[in-house]
Amino acid sequence: MNREEMRPSGVATKILLSEEVRAQIRAHGAETYPQECCGALLGHDGETGREVTALLPLVNRSEDSPRNRFSITADDVREAEKAGAKMHGLEVIGWYHSHPDHPPRPSEYDREYAWPWYSYIIVSVEKGAAKEMSSWQLADDRSGFSEEKIEVMRVRAGEAQFEGAGR
Ligand SMILES: [Zn+2]
Repeated sequence: MNREEMRPSGVATKILLSEEVRAQIRAHGAETYPQECCGALLGHDGETGREVTALLPLVNRSEDSPRNRFSITADDVREAEKAGAKMHGLEVIGWYHSHPDHPPRPSEYDREYAWPWYSYIIVSVEKGAAKEMSSWQLADDRSGFSEEKIEVMRVRAGEAQFEGAGR
């Protein structure tokens, strides 16, 4: 099945995180504060939504402005795809980064450098403590992001009960 069949554009999507993944994103953001952290979201598109089951933390390669920018290179994409393939065939379904002392909303820079289809999770880190988390998807025409609902999987995907992502 190709990506267009699975995810018609304009349809609101939902992203499911395990507790562990959610905690790891928050911890990574706190660890790199006051700089931005970034990494890849690994998982797959399931029946009830997009499921993130593992992460690949990356080095923020933005040398000019690591406090408010992150940059992912083609090498990072390849590395993330390889790591996912090794983990029981997981796909790279998105990217996460932190916003030190800023709300978890995509910046104009984020929009310019994002790719459609992927999910972008942003965690706000205030004074070193991880706060709100949100997830976004860029429109196919790159005009803007729409927000995805984050749900946290308490147990294994498929037989899970869900709760809100603690906003
Ligand atoms: Zn950003």
